[in-house]
Amino acid sequence: MRLEDLIAENARRLGPSAYTRSGPEEEDRCSASHHGKSIGPLGPWLQGKGGTELKCLAVGTKEVLLEIYRRLLSAYGPQGWWPGDSAFEVAVGAILTQATSWKNAARAIANLKRAGVLSPEGLWRLPAAEIAELIRPAGYFNQKAKRLRAFLELVREHDGLEGLFSLPIEELRERLLAVPGIGPETADSIVLYAAEKPSFVIDAYTRRILSRLGLIQGDEGYAELKRLFEENLPRDTGLYKEYHALLVRHGKVHCRARPRCGGCPLGDMCSATGS
Ligand code: SF4
Repeated sequence: MRLEDLIAENARRLGPSAYTRSGPEEEDRCSASHHGKSIGPLGPWLQGKGGTELKCLAVGTKEVLLEIYRRLLSAYGPQGWWPGDSAFEVAVGAILTQATSWKNAARAIANLKRAGVLSPEGLWRLPAAEIAELIRPAGYFNQKAKRLRAFLELVREHDGLEGLFSLPIEELRERLLAVPGIGPETADSIVLYAAEKPSFVIDAYTRRILSRLGLIQGDEGYAELKRLFEENLPRDTGLYKEYHALLVRHGKVHCRARPRCGGCPLGDMCSATGS
């Protein structure tokens, strides 16, 4: 089942609390089996849009995702993520924060800065063992030192970060994924936040929040969740950055491992409210 159809089913179950109405043009384009079925009145947040009844939920997925975004932005404000003084620092941070908190990664970055080696040339001059010692606060420091060296090799193959980041987005992503220890989340973080190209980042917070909202089953693959966002949101680097950062914030403030649902900005759209 396509995620868009799952969202449609859940909208029917949740009733008038969420989702939207498509315009006639979008309905014409929709070939989903549920097309044309009414699911009742629109929720309060849609009243200002002049809609009264939901006709086609498959095309409503984009409205669902944008409504979540609007609510999170209104609740938390712009996040300004990812911190870093340069694209290289952001890329290094994406590798260092694997399997650890940002706080620990930031301590490792501070060590690299203090040592004056936070540049492709500076890090390249250091043996892996010295890099490992500097990044010790980030944990798994021997593995991460090797990953940084492998990333630096990729950078050098393209005559520097600018050359690497000038690759078309899919090619850049593939090259990054070919680096040992760089998986989809890290690759997309580098593409989005360091190279400033629109590649949506999926992480554990995204999966947890969307599962609890009832929008996904939770066992979907990374690529499927990435597709859900990218096919239903405008292809916009700023939007992708802010959306991902807001989901992280929401996962830390309200939708934690043990959720704090009181005052949650998504509470009336959520099938798991009440914890
Ligand atoms: S209502 Fe609770 S479970 Fe649902 S999104 Fe908010 S914090 Fe998470």
